[in-house]
Amino acid sequence: MSCRARMSEPLPPGLYIVATPIGNLGDLTVRAADVLRRVNLVLAEDKRVTAKLLAHVGAKARMQAYHDHSSEEDRLAVLARLSTQAVALVSDAGTPLISDPGFKLVRAARAAGFAVHSLPGPCAAIAALTLSGLATDRFLFVGFLPSKAGARGEALAELAGVRATLVFYESGPRLGASLAAMAEVLGGREAAVVREITKLHEETVAGTLGELAQRYAESGPRGEIVVVVAPPLAPEPAGEEELDRVLAHALAELSPSRAAAQVAEQLRLPRKQVYARALVLAGDKRDPLA
Ligand code: SAM
Repeated sequence: MSCRARMSEPLPPGLYIVATPIGNLGDLTVRAADVLRRVNLVLAEDKRVTAKLLAHVGAKARMQAYHDHSSEEDRLAVLARLSTQAVALVSDAGTPLISDPGFKLVRAARAAGFAVHSLPGPCAAIAALTLSGLATDRFLFVGFLPSKAGARGEALAELAGVRATLVFYESGPRLGASLAAMAEVLGGREAAVVREITKLHEETVAGTLGELAQRYAESGPRGEIVVVVAPPLAPEPAGEEELDRVLAHALAELSPSRAAAQVAEQLRLPRKQVYARALVLAGDKRDPLA
């Protein structure tokens, strides 16, 4: 069977979650274009935006609006189609469900036993993380912070202890205030403002949160923005004075060996170093390395 013939065949019924470009149409995957041409229906956040994409790939599928305000009835109507039709879910840009509608629909489709397929592709959060130059081994996608100052401060306070790189979605007009709040609550961490990814004016500006807050205090830049923030710095190891103070306290009740074990864990210091100091403070001449 020729590839052309296979590509014009109808798709098996089910829900197809299709990631679309975040700025550069060339980033639409070959599989995404193929599926958009072959589905019976495309659920779109904004039909005008998706119409341009469908025209670009020569897809003629019918479109129906599906967004955050879609009702339970709308979802049931979509579910009713899934047993016999292939339905694509797209958002205006990027990966559906990531700060975009679709979660309730996917959950309902899975619960009803329909096939759900994901066609991975562009996602601003992941692209920004790769551009930021910050640690990628452990990250938390936060999405949009609340816009009211109080709620935003509370959300940031909850994140302050998270030992992971943080990824926020932002907009130009809110950027200065958000960075100032981040600098206040998260401290002087390294961060990056990543803007207009895959578009003509793509840029990544790195600095501490304080520096970035200052840079964007007056006016936020145009376009779409992701802010990536480094994890909290590891606490400084305890100095000699702190070690002596905590050890003296422990030695009042414990043997040098037990005090050293407890204090080493508490201050995250090597046990041998703490034991040696414990022997000195206890006036004991035993060999610490024995
Ligand atoms: N689902 C999308 C995704 O996978 O990235 C995100 C949708 S969310 C409603 C829109 C936000 O994503 C924007 O406000 C911005 O923070 C970010 N974003 C989308 N496209 C971007 C781009 N080209 N450059 C930087 N940020 C972008």
